[in-house]
Amino acid sequence: MRALAMFPSERELRIVEMRAPTTVGPTEVMVRIREVGVCGTDREILELKHGAPPQGSERLVLGHEAFGEVVAIGPDVKSLHVGDLVALTVRRPCNVPTCAACRAGRQDFCTTGAFRECGILGADGFMTELVVEDEHYVVPVPKALEEVGVLVEPLSVASKAGEELDAILRRYPWEPTRMRALVLGAGPIGLLAAMMLVAREVDVVMYSLEPADSERARMVESFGGTYVSARDVQLDELPRRIGKTDLIFEAVGHSGVAFGSLAALAPNGICIFSGLPAGAGPTEVQLDGIMRNLVLQNQVVLGTVNAGRRAFAAAVRQLEQFETLFPEPLNGLITERVTLEQAPELLRHPRGIKQVVTFAT
Ligand SMILES: [Zn+2]
Ligand SMILES: [Zn+2]
Repeated sequence: MRALAMFPSERELRIVEMRAPTTVGPTEVMVRIREVGVCGTDREILELKHGAPPQGSERLVLGHEAFGEVVAIGPDVKSLHVGDLVALTVRRPCNVPTCAACRAGRQDFCTTGAFRECGILGADGFMTELVVEDEHYVVPVPKALEEVGVLVEPLSVASKAGEELDAILRRYPWEPTRMRALVLGAGPIGLLAAMMLVAREVDVVMYSLEPADSERARMVESFGGTYVSARDVQLDELPRRIGKTDLIFEAVGHSGVAFGSLAALAPNGICIFSGLPAGAGPTEVQLDGIMRNLVLQNQVVLGTVNAGRRAFAAAVRQLEQFETLFPEPLNGLITERVTLEQAPELLRHPRGIKQVVTFAT
């Protein structure tokens, strides 16, 4: 079977021939991959900024945003059947006995850093025809989501942020109503997070680089958000233009924008960072004002990475909700589908919103 692999020592991306798995263990399932999304993480692996092959291997099979169909199950598998459509979780636990997070099945909170991530760090990914995984890492997706199931993984990042948000909101002895949110960055994760917040009846402003008459701006308006282009409004003008906001979801990966946006955070506000800074060098931020507001206004800033199985299951439920509430923008997120042969070119030249590699079924 074919797979797309990165050879870091040669700085080369190649389609390789691999031996297809033929058996499954008692609690394992075999998944025929249908679609794999690509994102900035894959491109960082190509640029050798991130990731590593499995120990002892010279190449890493790419692909961490996978959607497929169960084609075989082990005798002890309980949660899945042959024919089920599924998404695959990405992070695998470390082996350190004292890592409470991994021992509790929450490797997204791993404290040792010795976790592995399929298609990213120390474990092969899903950009291939067949994979075998323990059922615990495989999440069922209803047939009705066939066209958008590949979005479960990117949405799971926002879904985990939603779980964190719920945990923090429990500090209020009242029910917060009609909250306002600012989402930074109209990439796939920002757009999915904005949809999630709109579905939660939060008033959403999306702030991003694309012009106000762009396709992405129209998409945001079409699912009920308000779009503000960074070309029209400077970051430091934002609080004056849109008012204070109860939530900020950051998905731009720029520290100046992330911390600069805090001036727009309302009292008791919560800001969630999900992007990784691109490393553009020193950034000037007025830390006194930020610290003063954090203390005097009970504000929270937190980071979030990866997602647990529960957040994947939440992402599946949220996709079902999006299909009902705003099917057109949801389906519009996937802007291009290509074959495995076209994947190397696609990875080198990003375009559109979410690009997907499709395997013939
Ligand atoms: Zn990704
Ligand atoms: Zn761990």
